[in-house]
Amino acid sequence: MDITSLIDPLNDAQRAAVTAPNQAVLVLAGAGSGKTRVLVHRIAWQIQVEGISAHGILAVTFTNKAAREMRNRLEDLLEHSVHTMWIGTFHGLAHRLLRRHAKQAKLPDTFQVMDSADQLRVIKRLVAGMNLDETKWPPKQIQWYINAQKDEGKRAKHQLETGDVFQRQMLAVYRAYEEICDRSGLVDFAELLLRAHELLRDNADLLEFYQQRFLRVHVDEFQDTNTIQYAWLRLLTDGKDNLFVVGDDDQSIYGWRGARIENIFSFQQHYPNHQVIKLEQNYRSTGNILKAANKVISVNEARMGKELWTDAGEGELISLYAAFNELDEAYFVVDRIKAWVNEGGLRSDAAILYRSNAQSRQFEEKLMATGTPYRVYGGLRFFERAEIKNALAYLRLMSNRDDDASFERVINTPTRGLGAKAIDDIRLIAKDQSMSLWSAAITLLKQKPMTPRAKNALVGFLELIDRLSTQAEGLELHEKVQMVNEQSGLIELYKNEKGDRGEEKLENLDELINAARLFDGGQENEENLNELDLFLAHASLEAGDMQGEEFEDCVQLMTLHSAKGLEFKLVFLVGMEEGLFPSQQSSDDIARLEEERRLCYVGMTRAMRQLYLTYAESRRIYGKESYPRPSRFLREIPAECIQEVRMRATVSRPQATAKPIDLIAQGRQFKLGQRVGHSKFGEGVVLQMEGEGAQERAQINFKQAGVKWLMLSYAQLEAL
Ligand code: ATP
Ligand code: MG
Repeated sequence: MDITSLIDPLNDAQRAAVTAPNQAVLVLAGAGSGKTRVLVHRIAWQIQVEGISAHGILAVTFTNKAAREMRNRLEDLLEHSVHTMWIGTFHGLAHRLLRRHAKQAKLPDTFQVMDSADQLRVIKRLVAGMNLDETKWPPKQIQWYINAQKDEGKRAKHQLETGDVFQRQMLAVYRAYEEICDRSGLVDFAELLLRAHELLRDNADLLEFYQQRFLRVHVDEFQDTNTIQYAWLRLLTDGKDNLFVVGDDDQSIYGWRGARIENIFSFQQHYPNHQVIKLEQNYRSTGNILKAANKVISVNEARMGKELWTDAGEGELISLYAAFNELDEAYFVVDRIKAWVNEGGLRSDAAILYRSNAQSRQFEEKLMATGTPYRVYGGLRFFERAEIKNALAYLRLMSNRDDDASFERVINTPTRGLGAKAIDDIRLIAKDQSMSLWSAAITLLKQKPMTPRAKNALVGFLELIDRLSTQAEGLELHEKVQMVNEQSGLIELYKNEKGDRGEEKLENLDELINAARLFDGGQENEENLNELDLFLAHASLEAGDMQGEEFEDCVQLMTLHSAKGLEFKLVFLVGMEEGLFPSQQSSDDIARLEEERRLCYVGMTRAMRQLYLTYAESRRIYGKESYPRPSRFLREIPAECIQEVRMRATVSRPQATAKPIDLIAQGRQFKLGQRVGHSKFGEGVVLQMEGEGAQERAQINFKQAGVKWLMLSYAQLEAL
């Protein structure tokens, strides 16, 4: 391979970063300036020029998608595979370490990973078991507290007892939660990181082994590492200067989840021989988009301060659309995507980005109605669906009987005649005797009188799991899943469920078999680890991966948070409204508001060529109707970068106000008194007209259905 191909497509500053000698390097630069590109090229450089084996390289990125992309880009550059390289997310890599060294990590070999919904369920049960009032001790808040402690590396035993009643109670719950998890072999996401850190910290031999193995350590999106992640990196690179990190303080968007922007400063203290490299040219976006994004982020006070430039030319103006309501917003966006595709654009180059998962539904419905393939990242993901989690719970129990979260989940799903009383008895024994629910169930059978019906049901359940687990031996992974689907009674259960939902659940169970068939544990598999456990961990860790065909050309839907690091030619930033974005909770807290603004900066800088910003004048969300004001971020965009668009016409925006201005009075489609026909309501007479363009509405007196207001862009009225 020719070395010039590694450095030719780089500018001077990028080249300096790629070829810097082996020392600590911090690349600090704005969005789209080539940080990720530099990181990939540097790894290729180390392999190609410095002769370091891929085996000796560790790379951490923020999402599984980014990790896959990085590996692909690297293999393209090198023209050979780098499967021995460790590349993944902090959670994924921590999981890999714990699986390899479960004993030293004080975990059972069959430990299971809980996602946050599982974790919440365990906490809920705990709160009930401790007789705490859920309204005073909301499980979500407890979950937040526990995870925040773990992110800071603190176990319950590290906390000082204070006189504070609240604090004392939280601590008691944390302690009890740790006990349950230990007893059940359950590991939540924050625990993965904490335990992986403790594993290396407390096992000098292991630490030395990995320090020697990883000659080079790289981190993308460094601004969003939390305390424990950074501590883990420091252990691995202790005494060596082999840590290469890239990041952007303006894109730090996980403060609410424990990320510490201070790590950028700590890095500079901990690695005194470090070099800082700044990149200033943006290669991603056109001039208008970049100028607008620069301006918005400049409103923040807490910044290191840097400005990006581009030589890409001004490009198109940013488009602003004021929708009548959330339906109209979805209608508009999908309409524009259709036009994009008609003009030869790829669907996968178009992304709809929103602040909160709840916003995706409207877009999904509209996309579905128009037969446009799409893929939602995040949201209620495949592996998070109830039917899938039920099947997985059986599989988990087969692997680890002490998994209380799974036991709870399926002890009575499908119902098997076990009353609440019997289940409460099991919980009580588990609590009193500090044992898992499984052991408690056995104890109950031995020690306490039960009704014959409950006894049969419980014995039936325990035997079912034992039988499944014996029969699973020697089966292929997907055959195990198929067996569970059939013998657990889940298929029967959903067959009897009425309507489309039952059908859909059955399809999903089939899809799970498929997922198991396609599952490739990658490097872990080569290490001869238990495939079922790897698959189950994959289900928790990579929940977003099984939806839609990865390679199908489909529109991309995701939250702003999950769009980090990605780029798309056409971007819709939707729901630009006060209360939604910035979110309600952040509007009177400066630090949180600045984090929201960084999120806006992240969103805008995803766009390469065209950026649409939309907001709705009225919105129904979380079951409530509201009339929000346009987001303050819209006002922060220079007027000359933006144009207001209507459904059918485009006009320039004359001044820097976020309020839409009626610029063109369009001719009315119908006259007052005119007779019209509607597919559902039948025949009627137009009483009133109001609004314009996409917002044009008519009040119609239908012969059968009575008086109704209809949006003309949806109603498809026919003049009679
Ligand atoms: P973000 O902060 O959003 O993660 P980034 O700094 O990691 O962005 P990249 O994703 O690496 O930026 O690069 C942005 C785009 O610019 C990519 O399409 C990349 O291929 C391109 N690019 C980067 N550097 C150059 C260059 N020197 N010449 C041409 N294109 C470049
Ligand atoms: Mg990047």
